[in-house]
Amino acid sequence: YQGKRGAVDVVLYAEGGVANPTHWLMVQAELRHAIDRDELVLHYQPKVRFADDEIGGLEALVRWQHPQRGLLPPSEFLPAAEQSGVIEVLTAWVLRRALEDQAGWTALGQSWPVAVNVSARNLEAPGFPQFVAGLLAEHSTPPGQLLLEVTETALAGDAEIVARAVVELRALGIGVAVDDFGIGYTSLSQLRTVPVSEVKIDRLFVIDLDQDPQNQAIVRSVIELAHGLGCRVTAEGVETAQVSAWLAEAGCDDAQGYLYSRPVVWPHLLDLFLHPRSTGRHAALDEPAAP
Ligand code: C2E
Ligand code: MG
Ligand code: MG
Ligand code: MG
Repeated sequence: YQGKRGAVDVVLYAEGGVANPTHWLMVQAELRHAIDRDELVLHYQPKVRFADDEIGGLEALVRWQHPQRGLLPPSEFLPAAEQSGVIEVLTAWVLRRALEDQAGWTALGQSWPVAVNVSARNLEAPGFPQFVAGLLAEHSTPPGQLLLEVTETALAGDAEIVARAVVELRALGIGVAVDDFGIGYTSLSQLRTVPVSEVKIDRLFVIDLDQDPQNQAIVRSVIELAHGLGCRVTAEGVETAQVSAWLAEAGCDDAQGYLYSRPVVWPHLLDLFLHPRSTGRHAALDEPAAP
């Protein structure tokens, strides 16, 4: 089915003018070389717990240090990777590097779990849960120290296969989060059938949350629903103290966003959190000058 699906998507993108088939094939080939040459980089963004204002984990976000084009965000190369087998190589690389880095900060006394984003195609691949379990064993990482993030749209893929993969991953003790929650169409019913451990509310609902009554209503009900199903709730894209205060009040568990930290390379992050500045333990990193 891979070839067929690829062909359909290529036609769509060619018509949209976003890219043509030749361009995509080039990106895919180049990306394979990039992985071989170790040109991918992981940046980490902390997740902060409202309960005690401590870091609850780090999310790995991939970038491509392109020799000519500079540091590329995932939006520049993930779509091409997802159309081909390259995504499997990419995810394997990201998982290995993330588990190595997780072991690194654990050895330094910070046993934060690591979160890795995976694509629908990874979950649909036969044997993916066992593959991940093998990597955990290789790195002597307890399964609870890994969280896999899957977008809501990815969960809507081949529902049965994806649900089965999530069940297997959870049975192995690996955390699974539904990412970008709220922007898909079948949100509520999906949470009943796919046993995720965490819900991450999309940034779209979090921006201006302190001022937008509609987003407030949506976020309140997502928190209630998720808690009712035994899931933790993270708000993505928290950029202001006002939004953070509103979320804490509403009972949200964790927050991520530029207010706390941009994604950064992990040794830098560790350094800043181990040697807090006088402005507060979780003062923003890399923040533009205060107004
Ligand atoms: P995501 O998993 O929802 O990650 C959050 C994205 O929002 C990241 O963008 C992050 O840099 C950005 N972000 C975090 N806090 C804020 C904030 O306060 N304000 C704003 N405006 N943005 C914020 P990034 O790194 O460009 O990643 C985009 C997406 O690419 C990710 O969304 C994820 O779906 C995907 N992705 C990233 N790394 C990987 C990977 O290794 N594998 C796969 N399959 N997907 C990945
Ligand atoms: Mg994510
Ligand atoms: Mg997200
Ligand atoms: Mg997102």
